[in-house]
Amino acid sequence: GPAILWLRRDLRLSDHPALSAAIASGRPVLPVFVLDPETEALAAAPKWRLGRALEVFAARLEGMGSRLILRRGPAAGVLAEIAEATGAGELHLTRLHDAPSRRRDADVAEALGKRLTVHIHDGHTLHPPEAIRTKTGGAYKVYTPFWNALRQRGVAPPLPTHRDLRAPADWPRSDRLSDWDMGRAMDRGAAVVNEWATVGEEAAALRLRRFITHLDRYPAGRDGMGARDTSGLSENLTYGEIGARTLWHAGLAALQDGTRGAEIFLRELAWRDFAHHLLWHVPHLPERNWRDGWERFPWRPDSPEAEAWRRGQTGEPIVDAAMRELFTTGTMHNRARMITASYLTKHLLTDWRIGLRWFEETLIDWDPASNALNWQWVAGCGPDASPFFRIFNPATQAERFDPERRYRDRWLTDTREARAFLSAVPRSWSLAPPARITPLIGLKEGRDRALAALAGMREG
Ligand code: FAD
Repeated sequence: GPAILWLRRDLRLSDHPALSAAIASGRPVLPVFVLDPETEALAAAPKWRLGRALEVFAARLEGMGSRLILRRGPAAGVLAEIAEATGAGELHLTRLHDAPSRRRDADVAEALGKRLTVHIHDGHTLHPPEAIRTKTGGAYKVYTPFWNALRQRGVAPPLPTHRDLRAPADWPRSDRLSDWDMGRAMDRGAAVVNEWATVGEEAAALRLRRFITHLDRYPAGRDGMGARDTSGLSENLTYGEIGARTLWHAGLAALQDGTRGAEIFLRELAWRDFAHHLLWHVPHLPERNWRDGWERFPWRPDSPEAEAWRRGQTGEPIVDAAMRELFTTGTMHNRARMITASYLTKHLLTDWRIGLRWFEETLIDWDPASNALNWQWVAGCGPDASPFFRIFNPATQAERFDPERRYRDRWLTDTREARAFLSAVPRSWSLAPPARITPLIGLKEGRDRALAALAGMREG
């Protein structure tokens, strides 16, 4: 019987340990994607983007005489049924690190382990999340020592790309992707976001090649919001359209050639591994304040102010521009993520989990580990967090990182981008024009209020 390759966030043919192992088994390979309840429950943008990833990957498989079998239902049941129908002898998968995925993988291994061999592979990150340990064998809580350990350990080179999959003699039945309607929950125009998305393995590889040729612009691009000089590869990493090790080795080769920016790029990439490392060791990272005592912080619940933040109507131009970018493109510059998250959690004193949920709803690069770590980092309650009292002043940030107003103008004046945003928002939003919004709170007043809340928590 065939080897089932159960795909999730590993929609690629290159550097794919599970795929390589399935091929090495000598059996025909049966690629399967299951729309299980966990996947059904994805928020709007991630689910829509996953649908696009599946569409492109299925076409790629078909181009080489293979297929992507699509089935709906709880994973263990569906896979058992396929194994039964095809006489499959092996199951291969790439493990994921968030709590719901871990439970699901364990259920599947248990349910299928009796009838075939289940092989769980690494491959979503540079290293398995538990591989890098402190001297005492524990988890790192601070980034720099984690980075030093990772750097010292090095990263294995990516595995070769497969262009040849032996197809089984008979294919089991498959659903039609269009029947799954993965974009259903996008109450804004998926067509708008689609204009900005770069979907699929080939597009991701091209994006990486282009990025590496101007890597010397990265140090400025990482901070400056006006240019678009970062890799943009996070959406591809999220769905495994490119492997993290492929990025690492492209960056490392540039470093060895003396390219400015290469070291910073490698460091950022390692933040993604750090996030997965922490999520593995602290499964509740997306739900609970990581630092003790923070449950006492007077985080505010959802409110009209938080809604104004979501809609880009705070009256703080850099925040509003960024929230428009997020809603329109499904992504946001890293500096802007930090500014908007700080504004929500500090100036508006809003619970970071409310911001985390909106990012999850809107980001096409949504990653359970990176989103949780970064929100807790900005909010001040997370591992290696920026201290709460270091409150970003959005106006000063804008002057420093958008000195020519290119970013703000792009999203707040009459441009193609701003028009795309306006065409995407639900009618019920009835937006005020940017110039006419009164700021939700004065910057000094918001800052003082946040510091008082912190002092109150410390005393309480
Ligand atoms: P580049 O600058 O080109 O970096 C290369 C890669 O390094 C990225 O693709 C990403 O995989 C990784 N990386 C860079 N910065 C970080 C970081 N701070 N943390 C973890 N990995 C990083 N990133 C996500 O992929 N998904 C998320 O859901 C997410 N949520 C975030 C929420 C907040 C509040 C903040 C402040 C940051 C969040 N990030 C998230 C991290 C970061 O903003 C994005 O990874 C980055 O902006 C993606 O753009 P890029 O691919 O051009 O990055």
